[in-house]
Amino acid sequence: MLSFDPRHLAVPTGHFIDGALVSGPPGNLPVRRPCDGAVYTKMPLASADVVDRAVSSAKRAFRTSDWAKRPPRERARVMRRWADLVDANRQELARLEAVGSTRPIAQANGWDVPYLAETIRFFAEFADKHGGEVAATQSDRFGMIVTEPRGVVAAIAPWNFPLVMAGWKLAPALAAGNAVVLKPSEMTPVSVLRLAELAIESGVPSGIFNIVQGTGAGAGEALCRHPDVAKISFTGSTRTGAAIMATAALNGVKPVTLELGGKSPQIVFEDADVDLAAACIARSILGNAGQVCVAGSRLLVHRDLRDALIERIAVLAREVTPGPTWETGTSFSPIISSGQLDRVDSIVRRTVAQGAEALIGGHAMEGFGDGTFYAPTILIGVDQGMEAARAEIFGPVLTVQTFEDEDEALALADHPEFGLASGVYTRDLSRALRMVRSLEVGTVWINRYGRSDDFIMPTGGYKSSGIGKDLGREAYEANLRSKSVLIDV
Ligand code: NAD
Repeated sequence: MLSFDPRHLAVPTGHFIDGALVSGPPGNLPVRRPCDGAVYTKMPLASADVVDRAVSSAKRAFRTSDWAKRPPRERARVMRRWADLVDANRQELARLEAVGSTRPIAQANGWDVPYLAETIRFFAEFADKHGGEVAATQSDRFGMIVTEPRGVVAAIAPWNFPLVMAGWKLAPALAAGNAVVLKPSEMTPVSVLRLAELAIESGVPSGIFNIVQGTGAGAGEALCRHPDVAKISFTGSTRTGAAIMATAALNGVKPVTLELGGKSPQIVFEDADVDLAAACIARSILGNAGQVCVAGSRLLVHRDLRDALIERIAVLAREVTPGPTWETGTSFSPIISSGQLDRVDSIVRRTVAQGAEALIGGHAMEGFGDGTFYAPTILIGVDQGMEAARAEIFGPVLTVQTFEDEDEALALADHPEFGLASGVYTRDLSRALRMVRSLEVGTVWINRYGRSDDFIMPTGGYKSSGIGKDLGREAYEANLRSKSVLIDV
């Protein structure tokens, strides 16, 4: 069933600066639909001048609008209105999300857009509930630690959940009183433009939320270098995060929040509920076709449970429905680009050449024309040194390794580079808690896997999976700086 016709969808194009869409002549950046390869719009690429205009607009608005200074309850009210407008325009936002990203329309409509609205509401609540501190000074002095917004925050987002990832950056920065310049991924630049229009409609002052389009090396780097950017909030690969950190160090010593890559283990003990574990693991590696930072891509299973578990996961993997992201029946996402499809396939092939076996999948899916789909893949006979067990594949590829006891499970779980998340499946509470203490990761899910609407739980990585957190109180506080005020009385 066709939920909408992608050929007749009005797609906004351009930058968004000073409260308005800046849509000049067609741009130089062709933007493709991953499920059929068609170019559906051309975006302009922001030059350093355009980036400067956006940052100057943000700086001016931060200084001259009352966004940061207005009663915080009023700021919260505007943000709640914005969230209500997101809900009211859910269908349109979901279509703009689905038309050119990997998000199937049913999921964009049922999860991404409502989740975005709730993210905005969650952070709006901090605006009038979070304050500074009175410090424990000598009694003839009065010490206050006051918090203030930082100024212009640069937000740089990936393509895998365009609206949701933008929301993680925008909502805490704006609720704390900052102005934002967002650079979406060059592969998914469309839906956030409508989100910006809704922000203005809800009462966010012009210039407080701007968008520049372009590549990482162009607009992204120019934004990070800009002297008036006070903080960078980035989600993307570890490699880009490291480059951004270097840019930030050399151009103003700016604070960075970096949400980076992962290679998260799913550890299943012999006493686990096998059906539950299979359902969680299948969801975590098949959702968005594995293009999720916390994809549970490494199955570590007690050797007694291995066959029963992978048999159940394989059944679920065979049930996926790939298809155009604009059809309501589609449940399985395309891979974002042909380059990424080739990368997934070559890692799988090299790993098979190293001695692993593809129990299912191990190849691109046929029959989608220029659409880029990869078959759900389970690799067995994998050992720790193989490429698929090491690299973040960002595709629907699950590697399987077995262990005999807790120590071996922990040794396998430990990744030399990544420490984003881990799943643990056991009925033994003490064992679960021992694992929590020992796993070097930013999130541990026990007998469940994946994000919930508990926005209070911060998310972020250990090791090279990141610095700082999105979501939670920590994400709000990272958008503030503190000033110490000492008074002799
Ligand atoms: P990417 O690093 O290629 O790009 C991310 C963004 O950075 C894009 O907007 C890109 O244009 C921009 N960029 C690239 N080079 C830049 C530079 N030198 N300066 C400034 N900006 C630059 O990542 P991607 O392929 O879009 O996303 C996939 C990656 O994101 C995966 O590694 C995934 O794990 C990670 N991710 C992490 C989280 C998390 O919460 N930890 C969430 C989602 C995705």
